[in-house]
Amino acid sequence: MEKAIQEPAGFNPEELLLQAHQVILPEPNGNKPASLNLKVQAVKVGVDLGTAYTVLVVLDKHGQPIAGEYRFTQVVRDGLVVDYFGAVNTLQAMKRNVEARLGLTLDHAASGYPPGVPSAEVRATAHVIQAAGMDCRDLIDEPTAANLVLGIQNGVIVDIGGGTTGIAVIENSEVVYTADEATGGTHFNLVIAGGADISFEEAEVLKKDPSEQSRLFPLIRPVMEKMGTIIARHIQGRDVKSIILVGGTTLFPGIAGVIQEVTGVPTEVPNHPLFVTPLGIAMHDSHGA
Ligand code: ATP
Repeated sequence: MEKAIQEPAGFNPEELLLQAHQVILPEPNGNKPASLNLKVQAVKVGVDLGTAYTVLVVLDKHGQPIAGEYRFTQVVRDGLVVDYFGAVNTLQAMKRNVEARLGLTLDHAASGYPPGVPSAEVRATAHVIQAAGMDCRDLIDEPTAANLVLGIQNGVIVDIGGGTTGIAVIENSEVVYTADEATGGTHFNLVIAGGADISFEEAEVLKKDPSEQSRLFPLIRPVMEKMGTIIARHIQGRDVKSIILVGGTTLFPGIAGVIQEVTGVPTEVPNHPLFVTPLGIAMHDSHGA
């Protein structure tokens, strides 16, 4: 299969995603994050307030990820801020941790929003970032952010996050069509919780345990098929040659195969698909430019 991910001039998406995977850490849970002692000046910052994960990522002036943090949160649902104070408090704590590691103050950040979210809600996302102490001038829709990293010229990016499956058709490097539907990793959890008679939170942990994933696959395969049906419906009538899957839910092994089977379109997941969109959001931050 011809590789759909192109290498835009100046950087390699695979190296960038590997670097992001190495420096964006989970919540330190009370441990003091180690200082990196870097001599960084200009930085770009991105905040992705997702349905399942809040991600903060910092790039150096060369666009390389240097630090970041992510946390499981339930402060935003499908692009809508549902717990404003929870979101602000979480982001402030994440900002403090990353600042301590870097030895500098983060006073600005770009943010992203799923396509189709009303502009008032997009502003609410920016308000969270402002209230957490970062000036938020740059807002970008998530598929465009993802494609800043992937550099796809023609194809489809599907971002399968916690709450939604977002579809973006790219033609001549531009996003020409987007759709967002409410099926994501949360729905895997609901099916696992029901099937195994455990809580939603326990299902979240079980789902991410590599030693459990082959056992769980038959249980959640119908949800993957539904995602495939959603994608097929949105790309119907278009000459789509490839689908690239990004977002945390695409870390579940076997999902690309199911989506390829349902859509009939060659489908791949890049290495480290979790931070594609947050990375693209940070790249959009014009403060550090
Ligand atoms: P949305 O984009 O829908 O608002 P989000 O931005 O929070 O949500 P992501 O951060 O891309 O979405 O992905 C979060 C989802 O990825 C969660 O449902 C989480 O359970 C799932 N996830 C994370 N790691 C894994 C893993 N190793 N295997 C399976 N699923 C995973």
